[in-house]
Amino acid sequence: MTDPLSRTRGPTAGGQTAGDLPPGDGVPAGPPDGRQVPRFAGPDTFARLPRLGDPGVGSAAVAIAGVPFDSGVSYRPGARFGPAAVRAGSKLLRPYHPGLDVQPWFAHQVADAGDIPVNPFDIAEAIAQIDTAARAILESADRLVAIGGDHTIALPLLRAAAGRHGPVALIHFDAHLDTWDTYFGAPYTHGTPFRRAAEEGLLALGHSAHVGIRGPVYGTGDFADDRGLGFATVTTADVARHGVDHVIDRLRSRVGDRPVYVSVDIDVLDPAHAPGTGTPEPGGLTTRELQLILRGLEGLPLAGADVVEVAPAYDHAELTALAAANVAYEFLALFALAKDKPA
Ligand code: MN
Ligand code: MN
Repeated sequence: MTDPLSRTRGPTAGGQTAGDLPPGDGVPAGPPDGRQVPRFAGPDTFARLPRLGDPGVGSAAVAIAGVPFDSGVSYRPGARFGPAAVRAGSKLLRPYHPGLDVQPWFAHQVADAGDIPVNPFDIAEAIAQIDTAARAILESADRLVAIGGDHTIALPLLRAAAGRHGPVALIHFDAHLDTWDTYFGAPYTHGTPFRRAAEEGLLALGHSAHVGIRGPVYGTGDFADDRGLGFATVTTADVARHGVDHVIDRLRSRVGDRPVYVSVDIDVLDPAHAPGTGTPEPGGLTTRELQLILRGLEGLPLAGADVVEVAPAYDHAELTALAAANVAYEFLALFALAKDKPA
């Protein structure tokens, strides 16, 4: 019987298990081999990767952390269950990414840091907890991929990223601007993180952009306010009319060589591709378009990333969880390709 905790090892991971190689030799430890331990068995971590701090893992190049917080939502709640759903949706991911010709978790060590515990009754305290925990994870990992949770969590994650890199370029995939000022007088919500981040000086605004914006807003002033902050916008219609290569060119020239943080609100996808989310907007990107645009960021110095707003209670056939898990897989591929030119 194969040890269910046996792990593949990179970079020559074809069928090797941890038992074939001595631990702590600097060779990345990966998930169990899906040909020996079925994908529906094994660890409940992202892609069944080892946990940060597991014996033989040590520090990681990239850590993945869940942020099960949804007290900042304005419509459907439920994204607190997003991290568990995305991890469940990640079990089918395999070690080689043909689209980018890279092995995302064998290029360097990738590990799951578990969930960040947050207060569901106090948004300000939750934001402080996420900020502190993200900085603590970054003591033992070079980069962090966060799985939400609602979009409120991007603010403390950007604080942690900017604390390490200075103001970062932001590429923000979302149906919504998320630069509103307040809701019901509340300044910290899932519709306001990027206005707060701009006010706090966390962003290189001249190098930042929203992608996938669509749907009705409160008025033209919403767009004027957003432009006034300094963001550029690529709408879903821009993607449809001009294509993904045009959008990639715009984004790459916008970012330049700045350290870049990528935040993906899964509602950037059409509800046909991602029904399980809090504020669905018809007429969105396809999963394929999002994947291709993300792959177009290859080689940019990636400082951090998140995928948020997966609310599994509204999901069907795991569509949203699978899409979000594959977004995180694209992040891991980008980190692997950028490892020799870190942000
Ligand atoms: Mn949104
Ligand atoms: Mn959002």
